[in-house]
Amino acid sequence: MPRFVVQLHHARAVHYDFRLELGGVLRSWAVPKGPSLDPADKRLAVAVPDHDLAHADHEGPDVIIWDEGGFALVREREGHLVVALEGRKLHGGFALTHTGGKSWILVKMDDAAARRGSDIAAEQPGSVRTGRTLDPRR
Ligand code: MN
Repeated sequence: MPRFVVQLHHARAVHYDFRLELGGVLRSWAVPKGPSLDPADKRLAVAVPDHDLAHADHEGPDVIIWDEGGFALVREREGHLVVALEGRKLHGGFALTHTGGKSWILVKMDDAAARRGSDIAAEQPGSVRTGRTLDPRR
């Protein structure tokens, strides 16, 4: 099963790097607000350059592995991906839809793992590997 990872990255602007193992690389999007389990939340996901697979194991002073696991590619066509995630925090279907330029929208599919009104980023802020959190003031 290919891997996915979501890395919380405290750069100049805090964001979550959502990465899918596709075609031997990590296709990557920067999601400012992070993924949501609420199908009503449409999260901006900005396409960023592919990363090497080894980057899925990277944690550092400004990066934690916020979630990781395997995924199945449910649907793939130009500008539209649906994946079924088997992570520690994220489960079930997520759709990525290209909206123009580098902009995509990441949305939770309305399935058994959907949780309306939840804020998984706030509820479970830590690294799935170490439990470490990043300073929320940044
Ligand atoms: Mn980043």
